[in-house]
Amino acid sequence: MRRKGRKIIYKTAEEIELIRASCMLVCKTLAYVGSLLRPGMTGEEIDTKAEAFIRDNGALPGFKGLYGCPSTLLVSRNEAVVHGLPSKEQVFADGDILSIDCGVLMNDFYGDAAYTFCVGDVDEATLQLCLVTNESLYLGIEQAVVGNRVGDISYAIQHFTEKVHGYSVVRELVGHGLGRSMHEAPDVPNYGRRGQGPVLSEGMVIAIEPMINLGRKEVRTLRDDWTIVTKDKKPSAHYEHTIAVTQNGPDILSNHEIIVEAIEQNPNIRAIVRETTA
Ligand code: MG
Ligand code: MG
Repeated sequence: MRRKGRKIIYKTAEEIELIRASCMLVCKTLAYVGSLLRPGMTGEEIDTKAEAFIRDNGALPGFKGLYGCPSTLLVSRNEAVVHGLPSKEQVFADGDILSIDCGVLMNDFYGDAAYTFCVGDVDEATLQLCLVTNESLYLGIEQAVVGNRVGDISYAIQHFTEKVHGYSVVRELVGHGLGRSMHEAPDVPNYGRRGQGPVLSEGMVIAIEPMINLGRKEVRTLRDDWTIVTKDKKPSAHYEHTIAVTQNGPDILSNHEIIVEAIEQNPNIRAIVRETTA
């Protein structure tokens, strides 16, 4: 989603708390998903359960109906980068990685987060891709301080994933501002130059979401008009947090810890353990 000339909408402290509540529900939904996932389960099954969970918590699925999206979750398996549509035919298997992206709308504000789940015995190279992609998210977040620019976030993610680890950053899809709309200004690319782009200031709320390919950066869209896959069919990983820029530094409004706790209780899913903390 790239629309030039949109204005950044700055949020009050009260609005940031409403977005935090929406992001928390997203992460509770992803934790619930993480507690249920197992080989043999289908995308349709997990999507139905996630939708019921969100509605039971007094919110609406944030993606369903948005740009014609038919589902609550976007479930992108292995070579799928993002925007995978959950279906009956999508049967999860041992060794799969599943990027599951979720949004909700509650009290007029959206929440957005994503996590890549490793089902059973995922090969070492793919596990490492997940670990590095997840780490790059936190390196990006570290740069989200007042006075920095969006390009500082972009550069941190690109440098770590491409230069240090030899992976590729997807160019066609980017992070975004978020609030009363799911996608607001500014775009937050996962590639770019330090000191470039919009200045980060207090009250900005942005979703940072590295989408990193094990092989080459090129992607294409499947005939369903939604699923984005890598051209070389190698796996891609995706982790997303929504954060607020504050005078006290980045405030992470979403919560991956509850997702990790759920995974640790589920023997079918392998936890990605971060080596450092941020
Ligand atoms: Mg998302
Ligand atoms: Mg997003």
